Amino acid sequence: MATVNSNFLKLQSNYLFADIARKVTAFKNANPDRRVISLGIGDVTRPLPPAVIQALHKAVDEMGDATLFRGYGPEQGYAFLRDVIMQYDYKVRGVTLAPDEIFVSDGAKPDVGNFQELFAQDSIVAVTDPVYPVYVDSNVMAGRSGEIKDSQWSRIVYLPCIKENDFVPDFPAVRPDMIYLCYPNNPTGTVLSRAALQGWVEYARREGCVILYDSAYEAFITEADIPHSIYEIDGAEEVAVEFRSFSKTAGFTGLRCAYTVVPKALRISDGKSGSVSLNALWNRRQCTKYNGCPYIVQRAAEAVYSERGQSEIMGIIAGYQRNATMLRTAASEMGFAVYGGVNAPYIWLRVPDNTDSWGFFDRLLQQAGLVCTPGAGFGISGEGYVRLTAFGSPEDTEEAIHRLRSLC
Ligand code: PLP
Repeated sequence: MATVNSNFLKLQSNYLFADIARKVTAFKNANPDRRVISLGIGDVTRPLPPAVIQALHKAVDEMGDATLFRGYGPEQGYAFLRDVIMQYDYKVRGVTLAPDEIFVSDGAKPDVGNFQELFAQDSIVAVTDPVYPVYVDSNVMAGRSGEIKDSQWSRIVYLPCIKENDFVPDFPAVRPDMIYLCYPNNPTGTVLSRAALQGWVEYARREGCVILYDSAYEAFITEADIPHSIYEIDGAEEVAVEFRSFSKTAGFTGLRCAYTVVPKALRISDGKSGSVSLNALWNRRQCTKYNGCPYIVQRAAEAVYSERGQSEIMGIIAGYQRNATMLRTAASEMGFAVYGGVNAPYIWLRVPDNTDSWGFFDRLLQQAGLVCTPGAGFGISGEGYVRLTAFGSPEDTEEAIHRLRSLC
């Protein structure tokens, strides 16, 4: 009999969203006439913008035309998309990238989960706590986690993000090799100021670490001096990889398109006396294991950068931002301590009366038919908080606020 990769057996089986789904299903079965409103899972609810739909139709027609049909595309993405990314996501912010530093893919989740493959097995990984679970679980699968004790892995360095440090992680006592940073943050909805991000870039340069910077929520930044890209910080191109996604920016959660920036200046030790380029290695890895994001999807992503596409996505994002403001304001008025929600679609709510986060989740579900995400599911520093998302419709968000008021 073949033998399993034992790292997979270490994974904690109760995945957060599966637990939530189980509880919600049980509630719905017991209360068939109550309408449940979800402020839980971070999926978008607005349809794709018309500019994207039009580009999809056109690309589909091309695929049925023998003269325009496209088969396998470049593993790294088509030039037409990499060029507009380079121009509109980076050049306008003063960041110069070459097209071959951009790798288009079918999602930031796979990219951020797969990227760790390029690092040595014994690399030390640091994550913020609370954390988007993919960073941790992908390293558990790779055998880098050590053993679990009191809900934390022995070989993972946790950087608490709590109200006492304004949700800005302190530098770790133990030097890590890889540091996952996600800003605007999921789940706390908080951001790093330019000075704080600069501090992390300087730390990584000093200590020889690589920052894996997930900026999937960059489009939600509203405040002027919050960096949209880590490459706005001098020297970051030598220490950082950046992950971006069209999922939340343009409603692509079901369509699937994202990209990863791996600068050619970024090198890590070859384990002997030399160094290797992460750009070259990621290219090699993608060419072996990935066959490219579909042509029609890349044409759809290209349309996001058209004048019409930009105006349509800005309208959609503004709608989610209004929901976030409504939720934030109402929860503050109700006396909750509220964080995030200004530069992100997530609101991080301190639960009252020393309730634990699953206890508050149960209370919201049972008494108000509302679904939130218990902060404890994102790490031990998430205990005592819940995450609310602004991705619902305005009507549902208003109804959720009304129910929350009645409960409080
Ligand atoms: N990164 C973060 C921080 C996320 O919260 C999510 C989705 O919730 C993703 C990445 C996934 O992005 P994608 O849909 O492109 O796979």
